[in-house]
Amino acid sequence: MEITSTHIKSLAAIVGEKHVHTPDMLTTRDPGFHPENLVAGLAVYPASTEEVAQVVTYCARHGLPIVPQGGLTGLSGAAASTSNSIILGLRRMNAITALDPLVGTATVNCGATLQSVEEAANQHGLSVGIDLGARGTATIGGMISTNAGGMEAFRNGSMRNRVLGLEAVLASGTILNDLTEVPKCNEGYDIKHLFCGAEGTLGIITRAVLKLTPAILPTTTLLIACESAAAALTITRACQKMPDVTLLQTEIMWRNYAVTVAEEIGLSSVLNFCDSPAYLLIELTSHGTAETALQTLFDDPTAQNAIRDAIVAKNERERSEIWRIREESFIVDNTVPYCQWYDISVPLNSIDETITSIEARLNAIDTSLGIWVMGHLGDGNLHYTIGNGQPTDEARRAAISDAVYSGLKHIGGSFSAEHGIGIEKRASLAKHGDPEKLRLMREIKQVFDQANIMNPGKIL
Ligand SMILES: Cc1cc2nc3c(=O)[nH]c(=O)nc-3n(C[C@H](O)[C@H](O)[C@H](O)COP(=O)(O)OP(=O)(O)OC[C@H]3O[C@@H](n4cnc5c(N)ncnc54)[C@H](O)[C@@H]3O)c2cc1C
Repeated sequence: MEITSTHIKSLAAIVGEKHVHTPDMLTTRDPGFHPENLVAGLAVYPASTEEVAQVVTYCARHGLPIVPQGGLTGLSGAAASTSNSIILGLRRMNAITALDPLVGTATVNCGATLQSVEEAANQHGLSVGIDLGARGTATIGGMISTNAGGMEAFRNGSMRNRVLGLEAVLASGTILNDLTEVPKCNEGYDIKHLFCGAEGTLGIITRAVLKLTPAILPTTTLLIACESAAAALTITRACQKMPDVTLLQTEIMWRNYAVTVAEEIGLSSVLNFCDSPAYLLIELTSHGTAETALQTLFDDPTAQNAIRDAIVAKNERERSEIWRIREESFIVDNTVPYCQWYDISVPLNSIDETITSIEARLNAIDTSLGIWVMGHLGDGNLHYTIGNGQPTDEARRAAISDAVYSGLKHIGGSFSAEHGIGIEKRASLAKHGDPEKLRLMREIKQVFDQANIMNPGKIL
């Protein structure tokens, strides 16, 4: 179906002429994290749930495929568009409509960025309880749709655990109102949870009620040199059982990753304290003094054995330098082009073994492949960047993917931890996904979107 001037006029009548962008306008914009995000035939930016419903009703009537878009920070191509599709951009719907500090909830429109909601919550000593590097741009709608995880998921759960209620516009244009504000609501099948991780394939999320959690500021940031993930986990557990201490962050970087990023951003000196196979970034808050907490950790015999050496950030500048090494992961891609990314989940007791066997399989393909690994240790979520600076053909890409994914299912892990499937992992889902689960997913898609206009070609 081609997008005609009649379609453009009709959609402009709903959202206003200046909120309809034609391809020539789209090409001037930054496409975000996938080059095909803005290749659509048209983009419309509604201001309210009612406008979204009218746009969807119009598109349904005319068989026009819709690609919902938030901040375009998604990393699996789930917001990629095609020239016959219409982008439904939610950026104008960015209001926080209610925040109740006593109950601990925020009702937000789906285009609000994580940072804006976090800042509003912080004013009341509260937090969204979820954090990721793209916080300034990623939207609540996008985060629910990808079921984003991030650095606090090991203690607060992923995005689905933050959602109490949700409003969505379905493929027919009708509005699903499930804006419950209570944590307990067993009313049969929990439909709102189907939208968490659906990547826009079941409908457009327009509003959500989020559960807030007390905001806890770190009192101590440590970078700990250790031998392995097992050692890093031992330290993590020691922190978790310390009295008067809450462990806030536990992020891991393997040497090649930490050294490459630190060098590229001019912070190699941060790692000078110890040349180590792995580095653990820990943040704690202690109810006593920070010194006592550190002493308790360093006196713990299990932690003592696991810690090779450590540095403690003495001020905000040092803290930010440590975090930059962890967060500026895209530096690896800039340094070594044509890399492939992976986002896997590994049971905590299998991380070292998995790292070793993936490395062996990759070496068997080509010893010149560079491997950079870091991740959210508390969830066993590892982010891999793999490449040698050379373009890779389809067969080699598939071989590298097999080397990374092989055996994950068998040990109870997952080939897709937190970035979703989009278009980039569709083939992997077809290959590694459970056939019965896939059949049910296809049937669910049919129930919600028989005409297949909601983000077609994604996930399934
Ligand atoms: C520097 C950086 C760090 C990151 N760190 C993490 C991390 O630690 N953990 C993590 O999980 N992810 C991380 N990400 C990935 C990304 O930020 C998340 O996937 C985020 O949830 C995407 O939100 P977005 O608003 O940008 O969505 P988009 O990229 O715009 O869209 C993502 C998907 O959601 C759909 N969508 C968007 N809005 C809606 C809506 N209102 N209704 C229905 N569907 C919608 C889109 O169609 C698409 O399928 C990171 C990305 C970057 C760039």
